[in-house]
Amino acid sequence: MNTALKVFKTIEEVRSWQIEIGKNETIGFVPTMGALHQGHISLLQESKKQNHKTIVSIYVNPSQFNDPKDFLSYPIDPEGDLKILSTEGVDVVFMPDALTMYPDKFRFRVNENSFSNELCGAHRPGHFDGVLTVMLKLLQIIQPDQCFMGEKDYQQFLLVRDMAKNFFLKTEIVGCPTVREVDGLAMSSRNLRLNQTEREIAPALYKNLRASDDIHTIRKNLSELGFEVDYLEEKMGRRFVAARLGNVRLIDNVQI
Ligand code: AMP
Repeated sequence: MNTALKVFKTIEEVRSWQIEIGKNETIGFVPTMGALHQGHISLLQESKKQNHKTIVSIYVNPSQFNDPKDFLSYPIDPEGDLKILSTEGVDVVFMPDALTMYPDKFRFRVNENSFSNELCGAHRPGHFDGVLTVMLKLLQIIQPDQCFMGEKDYQQFLLVRDMAKNFFLKTEIVGCPTVREVDGLAMSSRNLRLNQTEREIAPALYKNLRASDDIHTIRKNLSELGFEVDYLEEKMGRRFVAARLGNVRLIDNVQI
């Protein structure tokens, strides 16, 4: 039988728990911004397979939102999330508030000055400073053996993996495959904000990304369908896209 899910809001609670479980058990960590779906669940299931204990964080990180409207309308569902985490047998959920995470009000931040300026970084100024800063803080608090991240956000996965390596953190950053709806749309908390028409068009993003057409043709096809394309690029053996449908920005990537 699963033991009850522990809900921690403070760093002290996490520290006491670490002392309680000792050094003989490994900790797997899954950072999220909540509104959990099957994509998140696949990460925590992988963590549970590979570790004695699994801890999930839920924190909508203000410093990674370059658009205040996007931050304010980001979906939240704490009750639904806690139900999922209990059912899945997660050991701990860490739900800090902004004061806990940013006692310095974001005075200190991690800045990567190369790959973070490309793709999403070129269209969302400061976004990856926010991501890397909150990830460094979370990894320092939780001190996990492994951290599981989705390949849906491939650029984010690579940047966090490289940061962990170059700041000599003990955590292994593990990339996990993108989980999709049956129609191919990559699962994302933001999908909840698509209206019915947009939801019907949205799977065309993945379908076009996988097509053998060149990227100019794909860009044209997406524009004709009503997508506003932020970028569509091929690099590192992958095809990356970000495109807006109405107010919702969708991202995806595939191996070429
Ligand atoms: P988020 O809550 O959107 O910040 O995502 C938290 C983690 O879940 C990140 O590592 C994401 O890459 C991952 N994730 C989000 N959607 C998916 C998906 N559809 N498949 C796999 N991982 C995902």
